[in-house]
Amino acid sequence: MEYKKNDIIVVEITDIGNDGEGIGKVDGYTLFIKDALPGDMVRAKIMKAKKNYAYGHLEEIVRPSSDRVEPVCAIARQCGGCQLQAISYARQLKYKEDKVKNNLIRLGGFDSSYIESIMEPIKGMEEPFHYRNKAQYPIGYDREGRLIAGFYAGRTHSIIENTDCDLGSKDNHRVLESILDWMGANDISAYREESGSGLIRHVLIRKGFYTGQVMVCVVINGESLPQKEELIEKLTAIEGMKSISYNVNKEQNNVIMGSNYHTIWGNDTIEDKIGDLSFKISPLSFYQVNPGQTVNMYGKALEYAGLTGKESVWDLYCGIGTISLSMARSAGKVYGVEIIPQAIEDAKTNAELNHIDNAEFFVGKAEEILPDFYEKNSSDDMSNPDVIVVDPPRKGCDEKCLETMVRMSPSRIVYVSCDSATLARDLKYLCSAGYKLKKWQAFDNFPQTVHVETICLLSRERRLTSLLL
Ligand code: SAH
Repeated sequence: MEYKKNDIIVVEITDIGNDGEGIGKVDGYTLFIKDALPGDMVRAKIMKAKKNYAYGHLEEIVRPSSDRVEPVCAIARQCGGCQLQAISYARQLKYKEDKVKNNLIRLGGFDSSYIESIMEPIKGMEEPFHYRNKAQYPIGYDREGRLIAGFYAGRTHSIIENTDCDLGSKDNHRVLESILDWMGANDISAYREESGSGLIRHVLIRKGFYTGQVMVCVVINGESLPQKEELIEKLTAIEGMKSISYNVNKEQNNVIMGSNYHTIWGNDTIEDKIGDLSFKISPLSFYQVNPGQTVNMYGKALEYAGLTGKESVWDLYCGIGTISLSMARSAGKVYGVEIIPQAIEDAKTNAELNHIDNAEFFVGKAEEILPDFYEKNSSDDMSNPDVIVVDPPRKGCDEKCLETMVRMSPSRIVYVSCDSATLARDLKYLCSAGYKLKKWQAFDNFPQTVHVETICLLSRERRLTSLLL
């Protein structure tokens, strides 16, 4: 049976797609329906029909799933930030663990019973709200031309007003209201994406959950902030404020931050702690957004690395050196590689701050730094490391990086991933070149959203394979 636009269909939802949408099947025909959950029986209208699948609009929940819960946030359905708030937390965890498992099996080519036998149960949160230490709010106008801050609706850039997100720090509200008041009182415009005009684009807020220190960075489409004394006065009344800056971004694109920032009050960085290590963080550096889960995740990465105090370790995609430094105390030597220069500056400062002198950092692409180093120093210890840790962005590792890792032939590879599809692809490569996946565990660092982190331990079973000779 083929369906066409505007057909009405009643279907039971049996699965969740990559973006949190409900998936149902009728006679082998697959339907993707936003806001429908596994276990729901729904009536949907077909919006777009293809030969074997269609996208439907949820018209009515005929019979709700027993996993349905009332979303905590009133605008959860419109806002693009959370996709899973209407599903019980226990079901969210199962969904995420299954997602990683299925990607490892389908895309990684691993045997399903083997994958299950080496899995450690997903690590969830006890309190799955207010866990984010960072928020980036777009500033704009509503339909009546009123200044608003909020989040983009799913797949669009229309702003859903909300200054009090349930995933973020409770002080974000005050920061945003202060900025909106200052804009209103001084007639300061918000950016309009359609025309590229207007000044204030985004507000970045970061809070050190351990130290209580707060950073605000205002992203502007201009060269300077007008009436900045008044803004400083408002923001410094907020407890914990330590750094106020602006960032210039005059590009008409989707990238939030430009490459430079200027501190107008306080320090260039805020400080926070992960475990017993202190970190300085600047507005442009990557820093894990869920500090509670980060401690658990780094603990697992350290356990998988199996360090005894002598080992040579590479930490690729190291950000401000958080994993490098958490391993350095248990290793002989650690090298970190990161593409953002500011983050490497932070990493060096962080090594000093924690009195760690066996960590070195390199700025550049992992896929360039690593092969270069290997070419020039092939007999050096660091060219034949004991452990390589990788924590790449969603697109995973570049093949040149994977190839060099295999050539360097560490005993163990610890792969930290925020995208299980690219993880599966990269594990397939490493396992076809002599490594074996020994253990894996998923971590729910992003409750209420579809995102999930995974850590894998691989160990070398044999030396270079014909693939590379
Ligand atoms: N391990 C760190 C950061 C992980 S996020 C932590 O746990 O905090 C991934 C990092 O990879 C980001 O800091 C990003 O800037 C960096 N990055 C992205 N592409 C890269 C590349 N090709 N080479 C090196 N670093 C890269």
